[in-house]
Amino acid sequence: MDRMRALILSDIHGNLEALNAALDAAGEYDTVWNLGDVVGYGASPNEVIDIVRERAQINVRGNHDRVCCGLASALGFNPVARAAAMWTRDEMTAANREWLAAVPAGPITPAEMPSVTLAHGSPLNEDQYILTMRDAWAPLHQIGTTITFIGHTHLQGGFAQRDPDWHELRPQYKTRNEAESWTLSLPESTRHLINPGSIGQPRDCDWRAAFAIYDTIANEVIFRRVPYDLTAAQGRILMAGLPEKLAARLREGR
Ligand code: ZN
Repeated sequence: MDRMRALILSDIHGNLEALNAALDAAGEYDTVWNLGDVVGYGASPNEVIDIVRERAQINVRGNHDRVCCGLASALGFNPVARAAAMWTRDEMTAANREWLAAVPAGPITPAEMPSVTLAHGSPLNEDQYILTMRDAWAPLHQIGTTITFIGHTHLQGGFAQRDPDWHELRPQYKTRNEAESWTLSLPESTRHLINPGSIGQPRDCDWRAAFAIYDTIANEVIFRRVPYDLTAAQGRILMAGLPEKLAARLREGR
C-alpha cells in the first residue's frame, strides 16, 4: 500500500463543536477511522453521527454507543452517564439509532492495512480500560499486528514494547490553549498501543479536542490537540437539560 494518512477519532461523545474543530485542523488525510463512543454525554448526537457516517471508512462500536442505541442496558453506568444515555436514546433519529446498532465490535483490521488493529477498549475485551502497562501487557504480546489503536480511557498517549524494553507514552505540549501537535516515530519491530485521546470529553486535564494521524510512510503518529468553542458545547448541554456536570467537566478536561 502506498502512503496513507489515517485520521483517527475516538470518544467524540456527541460534541459537535469539538468534532468540527478537529476536522478543520486535521489537514490532509486519506481515510478516517472512528474508534467508538460517537455519542453519550454531549448534546449533538445526530449532527455528530451524520458527520461520522459520511466520513469514516471504519467504525468500531463503543460501550456508550451500545447503550445509547439500545443494544445494552444502562445499569452498569453511573447516574450521570445513564441520564445522558437515556437522553441520547430518545434524541437520536431512528435511522441514526439503526446505523449505530450495526457498528461492529472491535477488534477490526482494515483490509488495506493488515499491520493495524482498531478497538474501542482492549483488543482482547472491548469493555476493558487500558490505563497502565499492566493493562497493556497482554494485548501488546497477544495481538498479531505491530500497532493497535484504542480509545475508551479518553487519555491521549499509549504504550511501546520491544522485548525486554517497554515504556508509556505521553505527548508533551507547550501550551494549554493553542493548536499543537506532537510527533511519535515508530521504530521498526517495536509494538505500539496508541490512544488518540478523546475528541469530545478529554480526561487528561487538557480541555482541547484530542485526535491523531497515522502516517504509514513516515511511520509516525502525530498526536494533535485543538481548541474548540467550549462555551457553545457547554450551552447546548445545559439547554438540552443534560446533567450540569457534563458541561462543567469539559472545561477541566476530566
Ligand atoms: Zn468514551
